[in-house]
Amino acid sequence: MTIDGKTKGNNRKMTCITCPTGCQLEVRGGADGELEITGFQCRRGEEYARNEVLNPKRVLTTTVKVRNGVLPLLPVRTAKAIPKGLLERSMDTLADLEIQAPVRTGDVILANLLDTGIDVIASRDMEKVSNVG
Ligand code: SF4
Repeated sequence: MTIDGKTKGNNRKMTCITCPTGCQLEVRGGADGELEITGFQCRRGEEYARNEVLNPKRVLTTTVKVRNGVLPLLPVRTAKAIPKGLLERSMDTLADLEIQAPVRTGDVILANLLDTGIDVIASRDMEKVSNVG
């Protein structure tokens, strides 16, 4: 597995965020083009560093507009991390979305975001405005 062009020839340091231990990881491009990863205490850290270099992903958190809700915006997030390169397009897609209250935590707000196979889900309940008071 080769290190990408942007990072090639450079050491890259990062903190593993997979657990609270926060190991300091270092990734180097080996002479043979393979990644050399050090500083991890477990396999999850090694995997984290490899993914950060080769295929970085993030859980997207944002808000979408709500019609008839007690609040105008609903916090949402992707059910899993999506490729970092899709974050901007995902934000654009969700900016155009308006959903209808009521909503329950975990409800699918948008299925299969940008064909990733990953859903956008509600991060909280949202009652209809007529249910209040
Ligand atoms: S390398 Fe393992 S022990 Fe260290 S922070 Fe990552 S998950 Fe935790």
